Amino acid sequence: MNMSNLLIIRHARQIVHVCNKSESMLRGKEMAHVAVTESSNGLSLVVGDDGCIKDFGEDAELEAKYRQCAFQKEIDASGKAILPGLVDGHTHPVWVGDRVHEFAMKLAGATYMDVHKAGGGIHFTVDHVQKATEEELCSSLLERLKRMVKSGTTLVEAKSGYGLNAESEVKMLKALEKAKECFKDIEISSTYCGAHAIPRGKSMEEATNDVINIQIPKIKELNDSKELSVENIDVFCEKGVFDTDASERILQAGKEIGLAINFHGDELHPMNSGELGAKLDARAISHLEEVSDEGIQAMSRKSVVAVILPTTAYILRLKPPPVRKMIEAGVAVALGSDFNPNAFCLSMPLTMHLACVILRMSMNEALAAATINAAASLGRSQTHGSIEVGKVADMIVVDAPRWEHLIYQMGSHNELIKYVIKNGRVVHSS
Ligand SMILES: [Zn+2]
Repeated sequence: MNMSNLLIIRHARQIVHVCNKSESMLRGKEMAHVAVTESSNGLSLVVGDDGCIKDFGEDAELEAKYRQCAFQKEIDASGKAILPGLVDGHTHPVWVGDRVHEFAMKLAGATYMDVHKAGGGIHFTVDHVQKATEEELCSSLLERLKRMVKSGTTLVEAKSGYGLNAESEVKMLKALEKAKECFKDIEISSTYCGAHAIPRGKSMEEATNDVINIQIPKIKELNDSKELSVENIDVFCEKGVFDTDASERILQAGKEIGLAINFHGDELHPMNSGELGAKLDARAISHLEEVSDEGIQAMSRKSVVAVILPTTAYILRLKPPPVRKMIEAGVAVALGSDFNPNAFCLSMPLTMHLACVILRMSMNEALAAATINAAASLGRSQTHGSIEVGKVADMIVVDAPRWEHLIYQMGSHNELIKYVIKNGRVVHSS
C-alpha cells in the first residue's frame, strides 16, 4: 500500500463525530446525544486524496495500517479535539454600508419596526447595495467569509435580498458566485431572497408580482445557463411585509424552478409559517420566535428543519423562540449566525453559546444544531456535518481536551481553533 493521502491528524484526545450512523439529521431528543470517540492513547484520522474522510482509530492501529503511505500534510493534535467544520445555516453577507448607528438607537429602546419606519433598517442597506458595484459587494463579502473561516465555519448559507429588483438581486447573487470561484476555503449555498422587504413605493401585491413574474424567471435563466448556482428560495413572511398568502405564492414559484424552500417565518408576529412550510415541503424555516403549537407539530411530521437565530433574539431583545418545545416535539433544530447589518456576528461558537444560555439548549444540542442539522437545512447532510468515513473532510481542531471548551470559553474561539480543514486542506491555522 503506497498510495498518497492528503492528510493525517495524530494523537487527538477526542474525535467528535456528532453522528456516526449516516443520519440525515438529529431530531428532537436525538440531539442530546453526540457521538464521540475518546482515547488517552491518542487517535488518528486519515483524509484520502479525494478530500474525504478515509479512516480513523487509535494511533497505534493507524500507524501500522498506513506505515507505507505518504501524507501531504501531518498534524500533531496531541491533547486536542477534532470536530466537524461548523455549518452556518442563515446569513446575509452581501452588503456595503454598516449600521453601527442603529445599534445605538436600539440600545436606547427602538424596536426593529421603529428603525424600519425611521427610514433605517433594511432600506438603508438596500440603498447602499443598489448603488454598489458587483466588485465592491464581492470584496466586502470575501473579508467576511475569511473571518467566518477563522471562527470554524466551513459551509455557509448566504442570501441575496438587499437588491429588491432583478438587476440588484442578480448583482448580489453574482458576487456570491464570484466568491465561490475565487475562495475555496468555505463552501456557499446561495439563496435568492428577493422578497426580503417591500421596495419603497410598491405595494405588497406589486412586489409579489415583480418577484414571481420578473425576478424568479431571471434566476431560472441564469441558473440554466450556469451563470448562477442558486439553491434556495427565501421570503420574509411577516406582518407588514409579505403575508402568508403572498409568501406561499413566492415560495411555490421558486419551488417550480427547482429551488429548495428555506424561509424567514414567525419572527415578530404569528404568521402560521410552520404550517405553511410543512404544507409546501420546505427544507427549513428560520426564526420561529412566534411559531404556533400546530406549526411545531406540522414541522415535526414533515421533518422541516427549524433554523434558530439566537443573535437576533438577543440584539432585538425578542421573545426567544420556543426551542425546548420544538425539541420535545421531535423537530430537528439548526443554528445560524444570522450575520447581517443588524446582527454583526460571524461566529458560530458565539451563536452556540447564546443558544445554550438564552435558549436553554444543551452543548450537545447546540453542536448538533451547528453541524449535521444545519447541513440538513441546506440539503447537504449526506456529505457534510459529521465526521464519518466517506464524508467531506471539513473539520476543526480545537486546543482543548474536551470539545465543549469551544462553547464554554465564550469569545475565545479564535485562540482555541488551531486548524480549520476544508476538503482535507488546512485553510487556517493559529
Ligand atoms: Zn435573516
